[in-house]
Amino acid sequence: MGLTLRSLLLAASATRAFASCAHGTFLRPRAENGTVEVGKFGYSGSIGPLNWAALDAPANAACATGTRQSPIDMVEGVFTVLQGSEIELTVNDMPEGAEFENLGTTVEVITQGGTLKVGEKQFELQQFHFHLPSEHLDAGKSQAMEMHMVFQSAGTQEIAVIGTYINIADQAAAPATPPAPPAAKRSLRSRITRRQEATPPPPLPATAATGATALLETLFSVVDQISTPGTKVKTPPLVMSEVVDVLKANAFQIYSGSLTTPPCSEGVNWHVSTARLGVTPASFTKVRDVIGFNSRYPQNTPGQPNILMLSALGSAAAAVAVAAAPAAAPAAAPAAAPAA
Ligand SMILES: [Zn+2]
Repeated sequence: MGLTLRSLLLAASATRAFASCAHGTFLRPRAENGTVEVGKFGYSGSIGPLNWAALDAPANAACATGTRQSPIDMVEGVFTVLQGSEIELTVNDMPEGAEFENLGTTVEVITQGGTLKVGEKQFELQQFHFHLPSEHLDAGKSQAMEMHMVFQSAGTQEIAVIGTYINIADQAAAPATPPAPPAAKRSLRSRITRRQEATPPPPLPATAATGATALLETLFSVVDQISTPGTKVKTPPLVMSEVVDVLKANAFQIYSGSLTTPPCSEGVNWHVSTARLGVTPASFTKVRDVIGFNSRYPQNTPGQPNILMLSALGSAAAAVAVAAAPAAAPAAAPAAAPAA
């Protein structure tokens, strides 16, 4: 019942303020004049995910009717495993810094080149952004944050997303020195190389202590400068190799799902990494104060009915039952005043 990407592309052209997860892709082109467009949807109340379909019908219909919606609980049976070594992943460093935007619904870095190659399919990196708390659940467990690296293919206009959980860094495990400044790019890279040569890194269990990720510490050092939706800032130089190395050294849990923001288009190639990135408690507080809360609730198992359809049926049945019930007998006068 999911809408095709082609029909959603037509719809998306009329609804440019949706799809922050697909911002900068064919589904949601970036504004040509460089302004940061603030999303019209949200995460609570009447603009929250329970009502996304109604915010722009029929463009957002898949949010309420799609049967392969994201995010989901990543449990055995819903994904297949792909080793990081089986994909090709490159992300260009950004030595001059990058544009970091507050879209109202997330904070997003506009990237400057990167490629994901899986089998015969090749995708180009457009941006990465953050959700707080994590959207996917790791076998039922929510994580502190989740980073989405959004790729699109040139020919078939398919979307692929790498989702990576971010944990609060274990202070004991975090480096004693501050995160490597951008100027130390070469030494950071050589340190990672040396460590990998010494011991091949095993996949991290979910409970592993996590050190702070230098990329995140660098980014979030300026996140307070974009606390107002619609604003942007130039980041310090960004070194991407640390994150790329961690992703390639771990595995991906892959499944076919959807955008986690309106229009909830399906056919998205999800790669949820078994790696963990880390953020210090101070940086987590800083980015939380800007993002607030931007996580769509977990969707049904892929292939099962959309939860909102089930909910609508349940609500209708409940309404019928209430209407059919005999009128309640008038309440007897209380023998004594209630004690409050
Ligand atoms: Zn996202």
